[in-house]
Amino acid sequence: MRKLTILGATGSIGASTLKVVEQNPHTFEIVALAAGSNVAKMMQLCKKWRPRVAVMADIKAAGELRTMLKSEGIVTEVLAGEQGLCEAASLEDVDTVMAAIVGAAGLLPTMAAVKAGKRILLANKEALVMSGQLFIDAVRTHGAELLPVDSEHNAIFQCLPQSVQHQMGHCDLVGNGISKILLTGSGGPFRYTEPSILATVTPEQAIAHPNWSMGKKISVDSATMMNKGLEYIEAKWLFNADKSQLDVIIHPQSVIHSMVQYNDGSVLAQMGEPDMATPIACTMSYPDRVPAGVAPLDFTKVSELTFLAPDYTRYPCLKLAMDACYEGQHLTTTLNAANEIAVEAFLTNQIGFTDIARVNELTMSKVNAAQAAGSHFDLDGLIELDKMARIKAHEIVRECKV
Ligand code: NAD
Ligand code: MG
Repeated sequence: MRKLTILGATGSIGASTLKVVEQNPHTFEIVALAAGSNVAKMMQLCKKWRPRVAVMADIKAAGELRTMLKSEGIVTEVLAGEQGLCEAASLEDVDTVMAAIVGAAGLLPTMAAVKAGKRILLANKEALVMSGQLFIDAVRTHGAELLPVDSEHNAIFQCLPQSVQHQMGHCDLVGNGISKILLTGSGGPFRYTEPSILATVTPEQAIAHPNWSMGKKISVDSATMMNKGLEYIEAKWLFNADKSQLDVIIHPQSVIHSMVQYNDGSVLAQMGEPDMATPIACTMSYPDRVPAGVAPLDFTKVSELTFLAPDYTRYPCLKLAMDACYEGQHLTTTLNAANEIAVEAFLTNQIGFTDIARVNELTMSKVNAAQAAGSHFDLDGLIELDKMARIKAHEIVRECKV
């Protein structure tokens, strides 16, 4: 029986994780559920799953949840705040932690799970993007097990030899005959939209992803392809890949979830329905397989599979991220923070869609590269940098407003 904490339990990945648990009640047990501020949703989950521990990051929400649970006679212990999240991530009787908080808010709780030597199912790509080497080093130091949930990285993971699957963060690609990692992306809802219209697209249009159903932030990131940019950085760290070993390819149908090319010319691809329950189940039960409640891919209903190179003028955020990836940690941490502010500003109608890239680029240019480059960031240093970048991004958002 695997015992789980789900960080981000009320979100889209949280729901898919619980769907897998539901399919396999004798294989997985929920010990702790954690979320931000959605008390009503957490209350529903507590009624259904009866976790031993529930955490709300928002202190007031935690108080409300405590009262509601008590009135229903449910004995779940309620923890609060960042400390509560970290506690739930490192409970002694938990062996597996789903890291699915959105954004930089997930860094410390995920790190707590790493430091407690858990099996980390990593959905929260922003945590890895903002901490890079530090995260990878911590996994090794504390004997944690890192398994990628992000569908592309999970696909790549599945196409790697087993020995390399055990080397996350330290993969020897060349030594294992691997010449390239091919990261696929659908291109989002605006891949055929006239570029001149992009400035006026609405949040509703941006979050309507053609193939995947996801949380709002990642849906906007998919529309700008910042998501692929973050995934590029994520792939660099997970698979220890350099520039020549990592390519992005647009594949509009999202049937292939990513590929690995070997030096004998072979290309291995992982395919399936676009349902996150598949990669989640793969990591939860690794190295075994369990049912995920996902429909099998029906090849007779799959249309053509097409591929094209990304157009960086349509997707400037992708280029920003790919360049930042090799410039240094200060720039990827800054970009990640700026992007969170920019996406939130877009979702609340403060800036236009194309301003997202502008806010990101300007914030990066304002970070004192000379001071930051080459410095070794510890966790506190990275969090400080993240805060500074957010302040700068907020200033730029205010300037963008018409
Ligand atoms: P979501 O918005 O649906 O859910 C986010 C979760 O994080 C919620 O449970 C929310 O309560 C929690 N949360 C937000 N702020 C918090 C805070 N300050 N403290 C604690 N909890 C907080 O997002 P999602 O789509 O489920 O994505 C979660 C993560 O997984 C993201 O990092 C995303 O990039 C990654 N991911 C998602 C998908 C997908 O299909 N949804 C695919 C790949 C990777
Ligand atoms: Mg992905």
